[in-house]
Amino acid sequence: MTQHLSEALQRIEASPTTAMTDRASELREQGRDIISLSVGEPDFPTPPHVIAAAKAALDAGDTRYTPVTGTARLKEAAALHFRRDLGIETDPARVIVSAGGKQAIFEALAATVSAGDEVIVPSPWWVSYPQMVRFCGGRVVPLRTGPAHGYRFRPGELESLITPQTNWLLLNSPGNPTGAVYPAEMLRGIGEVLRRHPQVLVLSDDIYAPLSYTGEPHATLAVECPDLADRIITVSGVSKSHAMTGFRIGVATGPDWLIAAMGRLQSNSSGNPASISQAAAVAAFEGPQDFLSDWREAFRRRRDLVVERVNAIPGLSTPAPDGAFYCLVDAAPLMQRFGGDDSKLALHLLDNGVATVAASAFGGRDGFRISFAADEAVLDEALTRIEEALS
Ligand code: GLU
Repeated sequence: MTQHLSEALQRIEASPTTAMTDRASELREQGRDIISLSVGEPDFPTPPHVIAAAKAALDAGDTRYTPVTGTARLKEAAALHFRRDLGIETDPARVIVSAGGKQAIFEALAATVSAGDEVIVPSPWWVSYPQMVRFCGGRVVPLRTGPAHGYRFRPGELESLITPQTNWLLLNSPGNPTGAVYPAEMLRGIGEVLRRHPQVLVLSDDIYAPLSYTGEPHATLAVECPDLADRIITVSGVSKSHAMTGFRIGVATGPDWLIAAMGRLQSNSSGNPASISQAAAVAAFEGPQDFLSDWREAFRRRRDLVVERVNAIPGLSTPAPDGAFYCLVDAAPLMQRFGGDDSKLALHLLDNGVATVAASAFGGRDGFRISFAADEAVLDEALTRIEEALS
């Protein structure tokens, strides 16, 4: 039968991070020994108090529809999280609960981006940002960054790309796939530019906030520039912080009109996020948080191991990321072997037993992303395989 794909769908492709991870799972099911460093997913067990809350919700018969944009209980817990962990003063009425941060980001863009609108996306970017913009009919305006400046853009570079058609800037700190962290004073500099361009909304994706290795507290635009808060939406969640990727719970807070618009979309698409997952997320936000610093230290050790091993492999290099759990590895000196195509490089690594994601999937080039959310022994073995595959 003829396929009837919409114009919008034809503008996007499947997410390369999830595609590679699915491919790695398939190969494993076929009996291949594959180490998957492709997806950003903490390997720690979900904390027991979260599991207990999910079980209790099941036993209590908490198995029916909830309000579309989340239970009152979880919105309160999320407001506490925004206040306590990010410093953002909000209230439950300005919180939406979604199926992962991904859904909140999609809804914010789908609710506001029209054909011809321009969305500034710092690159290298998380794979789904540009796809979502294109799906909505918007134009992606890349704001290129590189390792020389820690993969951070400067305010003047942002301003040179803003036009009357710009309606969003997407910010992600700590960032995926570079680990770039924007300190408070840089955010204030960005805020100065934004004040001159009132048509620009800002999406601040803070999902990796607990994972910063700079020693400085997390900084976020809504706190550094409170006068701009009515055009900032901040996205967070429990997936990365509490090892709850499969629960699919994200939270966002922003101006009333935008939260309401996102809710309108959610009510006509997915409906409410899973009831059991919402109960678990309440426990995540309200329960003990002390293990997070231990996890952060474990990630820091893993980062140091990966950075050291990568930089010892001829032809590979990477700066030490300041946050999140990704390393964007440059392999430019080796690219001739792969015809200049880093997806061939990633497939070669997969053939050699390690799943990564090509840098080009993130708007980068000549390299690959390693997710170091894996045990040190696993990372060590993966780096040995990479070294042998490229020798
Ligand atoms: N955000 C994570 C990653 O980049 C999870 C997969 C995805 O949704 O892209 O690997």
